[in-house]
Amino acid sequence: MRVLQIASEAVPFAKTGGLADVAGALPVALQQLGCQTTLVLPAYRSVFGKGLPIEQTDLRFPVAVGTRSLEATVFTCRLPGDDGQIFLIGNDHCFDRDSLYGTPDDYADNAERFIFFSRAALELAARQPEPFDIIHCHDWQTGLVPAYQKLLYSSWPTIGQARTVLTIHNMAYQGQFWHWDMLLTGFHWKYFNWQQMEFYGQLNMLKAGIVFADKLTTVSPTYAREIQMAPGGNGLEGVLAGRSRDLVGIVNGIDTNTWNPHADAHIPRHYSADDVDDGKYTARVALAARLGHAAPDPRPLVAFVGRLAEQKGVGLILDLINRMAGSGLAHFVILGTGDPASEQALRTVAASYPDTVDVVIGFDETLAHLIQAAADILLMPSQYEPCGLAQLYAFRYGTIPVVRATGGLADTVVDTNDQTLADGTASGFVFEAFESAALEEAVRRAVAARGDQDRWRELVRRVMEQDWSWQASARRYREVYEQTLAAPSVAVADVE
Ligand code: ADP
Repeated sequence: MRVLQIASEAVPFAKTGGLADVAGALPVALQQLGCQTTLVLPAYRSVFGKGLPIEQTDLRFPVAVGTRSLEATVFTCRLPGDDGQIFLIGNDHCFDRDSLYGTPDDYADNAERFIFFSRAALELAARQPEPFDIIHCHDWQTGLVPAYQKLLYSSWPTIGQARTVLTIHNMAYQGQFWHWDMLLTGFHWKYFNWQQMEFYGQLNMLKAGIVFADKLTTVSPTYAREIQMAPGGNGLEGVLAGRSRDLVGIVNGIDTNTWNPHADAHIPRHYSADDVDDGKYTARVALAARLGHAAPDPRPLVAFVGRLAEQKGVGLILDLINRMAGSGLAHFVILGTGDPASEQALRTVAASYPDTVDVVIGFDETLAHLIQAAADILLMPSQYEPCGLAQLYAFRYGTIPVVRATGGLADTVVDTNDQTLADGTASGFVFEAFESAALEEAVRRAVAARGDQDRWRELVRRVMEQDWSWQASARRYREVYEQTLAAPSVAVADVE
């Protein structure tokens, strides 16, 4: 099976979120399952500064974007351990910029940039010698790809007969642009209607993908259900519910090489389930030193690593610390960046409890690994969480997650109680209501459980033995591709 992956970011080239982890790892895992994969990415300025063996090819071709023609230049890269093909599409006007999408405000011409990229990726694929069976695109940035394949490229070589799959990583980002950007797409205005590309007067690229793709996936079964209802669907719940039969949830895998306490270059002592206590203690000594403490705090270490955003429950975490820091029951460590008000509030609470609360504002890969290794408990009180990776990393490091029962967190963490302890499925502490009291109750249960050494050790051993590698997820994707190939392509409705 030949699979074309089109994504706006992928590890190790460019990353702003979980999409990059999936788009980087899935092609490699599919390749190992016998699929032939080609990955197409934008050649952002930043991809050239990473020491990757990127080479420019002779291939260049014009791509129509509205009335303009933008030239696509093509780069390739071979990564060690990856037999798949990787192409990067260059265009200085679109991609020679400081960031991927613009920060703090999105670039005003993001519609043009990703219309160009989507078309260029397909036109590059059409120049390859062999046909593709599956075209798999991701999120709003490539949401127009299924529509292009069906409406403008259906008679082109190597891509015209393919089936299209769209993966939704987060419904909060839909790629909505003013209606005149329809002129840039090259599509007939008749598709700008409420059943296809229009959403409350705007062009909605994710909606177009949902309507035109042959198959839809998202990154966990619970999130697949949540997005078919308000508020999870962010306004597109009706469109998604209409495609319920074609929507599948597949939990992401994790990179088990990068996140491996047995071989992690970021931690002071490697460990496995057999010597987890020693490994964690050594990590705690290193973490205490890093945070400016003379010695590690013997109390249970409760951590958070992630974006300081409302979605991640940062408000609940602040409340929790304010409620619990005085109790002396636990030590808290927070690593994150994001909303400036939350950053400031966290700094303030850390200053109030210098022996109990550590806050590091910043993005620090090494510290993230060290915290996962050192901590006993990882907080993920998300309002919504399409999949979530940090809880899966925590399992590998013998750190027990406390999560809200939403999206991928509900699918991957099993609450600890007498029954789940007895049947061996317990893997964390789960709460339902998006309220600080509910989080506190779950954290107090976790801290109390930490006090029972034998039971805790058993829990830690079990979570460390779980397999969340990409192999299992990639097998599910391959099944979805097979089902998609076996079914007829979704017909384009003629909406007048
Ligand atoms: P999302 O993609 O929604 O941000 P995930 O849990 O899927 O959430 O993935 C978050 C990833 O980003 C994890 O790998 C986490 O370790 C990492 N991360 C988030 N914030 C930071 C930070 N401040 N420093 C280091 N790593 C971080």
